[in-house]
Amino acid sequence: MSDAKIRLFVEHALGVGQSVPVSREQAHYLFGVMRLGLGAQVLLFNGSSGEWRAEVVDAGKRGGILLCKEQTRPLHLPPDLWLLFAPIKKARTDFIVEKATEMGAARIMPVQTDHTNSERIRQDRLQAHAVEAAEQCGGTCVPVVADLTKLDRLLTDWPDDRQLMFCDETLVGAALTLRDAKPGKWAILIGPEGGFSEKERSRLRSLPFAVSISLGPRILRADTAAVAALTMWQSALGDWG
Ligand code: SAM
Repeated sequence: MSDAKIRLFVEHALGVGQSVPVSREQAHYLFGVMRLGLGAQVLLFNGSSGEWRAEVVDAGKRGGILLCKEQTRPLHLPPDLWLLFAPIKKARTDFIVEKATEMGAARIMPVQTDHTNSERIRQDRLQAHAVEAAEQCGGTCVPVVADLTKLDRLLTDWPDDRQLMFCDETLVGAALTLRDAKPGKWAILIGPEGGFSEKERSRLRSLPFAVSISLGPRILRADTAAVAALTMWQSALGDWG
């Protein structure tokens, strides 16, 4: 058993007796902010080896060493689910990345649609948010946050084996659910504050791999819609039980 509370994502091999170097930033957090000293326990995960308990064996201002002791949890991969969303204001985009990580999306893909407000995102900042969210929610891997891609191009190059849950605000109140949907590889698509253009909507409705979905009788903000759609998908087809 372990009383370690702090969880850290590391880009390093994990295994019994493995030494894991601590970066300058991590050293600041572990030994400066959290005041961990020699012998303190932390939990590590790297996205492929589950979760490991490790002990601080060297603690400095600019770095340190953690020594892996034992595996505390096996690797749990999320379902193969992508979340596609049109980036909105910074804080709300951060919220979507954080919640998508907690909800078990495997890949987070900001998309540029006809009515998307922003033309660029800080992919590195959003990826760091996903890492933090995975650390706090007990996940053993971190979803990849992709760079901003045009929705149009993504749909043209769409993989044959992936279905798309198209959240269409014009279906508000319609009883369209995932009841008959088949499990497998999926993506969820959430539009921007201004919704989808008519051109996008008619293309999306004609795609054989797309299922149009209503998220209930009210129009949700994009960040709420992302969480609602992930909840709906996870409870129908995901890893919730
Ligand atoms: N401006 C649009 C309007 O007034 O109709 C609303 C867009 S909504 C803020 C942002 C996105 O959330 C939509 O493009 C859609 O993907 C999703 N969404 C929100 N409410 C929804 C609902 N009731 N059913 C399906 N999708 C919804």
